[in-house]
Amino acid sequence: MGLDEDALEYHRTDPPGKIEISTTKPTNTQRDLSLAYSPGVAAPCLEIDEDETDAYSYTAKGNLVGVVSNGSAVLGLGDIGAQASKPVMEGKGVLFKRFADIDVFDLELDDSDPHKLVEAIKMMEPTFGGINLEDIKAPECFTVEERLREEIDIPVFHDDQHGTAIISGAALLNAADIAGKSLDELEVVFSGAGASAIATARFYVSLGVRKENITMCDSSGIITADRAAAGEVNEYKQQFARDVPEGGLADAMEGADVFVGLSIGGIVSQEMVQSMAADPIVFAMANPDPEIGYEEAKAARDDTVIMATGRSDYPNQVNNVLGFPFIFRGALDVRATEINEEMKVACAEALAELARQDVPDAVVKAYGDEPIQYGPDYIIPKPVDPRVLFRVAPAIADAAMESGAARTEIDLEAYEEELEA
Ligand code: NAP
Ligand code: MG
Repeated sequence: MGLDEDALEYHRTDPPGKIEISTTKPTNTQRDLSLAYSPGVAAPCLEIDEDETDAYSYTAKGNLVGVVSNGSAVLGLGDIGAQASKPVMEGKGVLFKRFADIDVFDLELDDSDPHKLVEAIKMMEPTFGGINLEDIKAPECFTVEERLREEIDIPVFHDDQHGTAIISGAALLNAADIAGKSLDELEVVFSGAGASAIATARFYVSLGVRKENITMCDSSGIITADRAAAGEVNEYKQQFARDVPEGGLADAMEGADVFVGLSIGGIVSQEMVQSMAADPIVFAMANPDPEIGYEEAKAARDDTVIMATGRSDYPNQVNNVLGFPFIFRGALDVRATEINEEMKVACAEALAELARQDVPDAVVKAYGDEPIQYGPDYIIPKPVDPRVLFRVAPAIADAAMESGAARTEIDLEAYEEELEA
């Protein structure tokens, strides 16, 4: 059977889907039930009525994330709508549970108006410890996230934007280290100016790339100051408009140190890679087909091409699962009010640092027993590396406490031990 048939069977097998709700306290006796529900349940209600943060102590709020989508930009499938996106959102819930033991309610909201989405999600703040926005198309996704971040006091994180930004940011820190270049000197070209590219460009600036060294291309070519002045691009692209002559992606890539592809497959040639600076960094992350293939990019030059893609069958897979489960784990465990820039940077740094360390045998075995060592073909940890949980979550918790986003202080050493156990 092929993958599609297997997937249908997997989802169809009784009970349909792949998740369910279960109880965590005894429910056997009449007494148990009168504690779980009326009349006993009134006691925790009154506590929370007096102090809202008690919701973290008496309800599942603190381990519950809302995965919210309207299905307008579903991975590889496009605008398939709310109902058809449900298998993806339930799947995201599976990943949260599997990697960080976080529970998820998936919420598929049938509306394309960003303001209505904001109103709906805002009303759900009491339910959740955090909101993971998912597969909402650009530029509406920017509006929804910005407004929610202002209006609610739990973390709001659009994974399609920041997941890619953070994981590829970790890869960038190490790629620059291996190429012997410093971030503030890098000339960086983006192919794509959508949800993931805009967020990634912004994040690279937080990591130390100079905004004036970024050239961004959309489907019409370089986003120039002239195009911005002519009102040809939206406000988000405008922020990256550069005062350079008009041109296409090939022009932009000449002499560049870094190529970041978050657009469509097959649009970068070997000649374009040859035109880049020495030891170029090529992150071709369009899925499922990268802007240029791994072998093709490597073969284009005699010096070292440091290559990452979104694919699991080549080295350096930029996989969001390295980020969101652990970012939310750390954020929830300090009852964070937001996931801010400091926390995102801490995540990228923790991932980059982890890739520089020796890899445990179990991880090597899971990836075909080939030696794995820090270098051009290993700049980010592998998605199944169990150390990611107990390195990244404490780094997030620490950054949340340092930056004032934490509602509670925790002992980091004890926390790390607890996660490791
Ligand atoms: P998006 O919001 O739809 O943005 C796509 C962007 O690509 C748009 O700005 C579009 O230009 C641009 N584009 C289209 N054709 C182009 C061309 N010929 N040259 C240059 N730019 C072109 O999509 P997204 O969510 O950001 O995702 C973009 C791609 O990255 C997808 O393939 C996605 O699978 C991949 N991705 C991978 C990862 C990962 O590896 N972990 C994570 C996130 C996304 P216009 O603005 O002019 O339409
Ligand atoms: Mg997504």
